[in-house]
Order: sequence, then C-alpha cells, then structure tokens
Amino acid sequence: THVITAPCMAEKAGECVDVCPVDCILEGEDQFYIDPDLCIDCGACTAVCPVDAIFYEDDLLPEDMEFVEKAKQFFMEG
Ligand code: SF4
Repeated sequence: THVITAPCMAEKAGECVDVCPVDCILEGEDQFYIDPDLCIDCGACTAVCPVDAIFYEDDLLPEDMEFVEKAKQFFMEG
C-alpha cells in the first residue's frame, strides 16, 4: 500500500483523491488516508501530491511508520 504522512496534516490539498483509480483515499479530520486494503500501488497519488507526503510503505522513513497504523485505525473505525 501507499501511505500518507505528516506533511498532509498541514496541507490537505486533496489532489490525490481525484487521481486515485480505485477511489481508496478518504478525507479524515486531520489528514487524508489511503485504504490499505484497496490501494493497488499505482503511484498516481505520489506524483500529484504538492507536499510529497505519500510514500510506498517499504520506502517509509522510520519516523513515518506510525502513519501505517494511523491509516489502519482510521479505516477500522469507519
Ligand atoms: Fe490510489 Fe494508486 Fe495512490 Fe494507491 S498508489 S492510493 S491506488 S493513487
């Protein structure tokens, strides 16, 4: 899956939502979230994010790992 990280919290631009071919990006209170069960790793969202907040999960920095859990949590709570 791809994962949206900290820079989104200040920006919340939302360009990613429009380009995702499987519509798996939803707006949360403080940031946008990618549904890890639906993301097909096409990379379209990373290309349009103006603050480079989106990464393939294997490329995440250690300090961004918390955003994997945060997204899971978001979709579990519905
Ligand atoms: Fe959607 Fe592709 Fe981004 Fe996954 S990588 S969230 S499928 S645009």
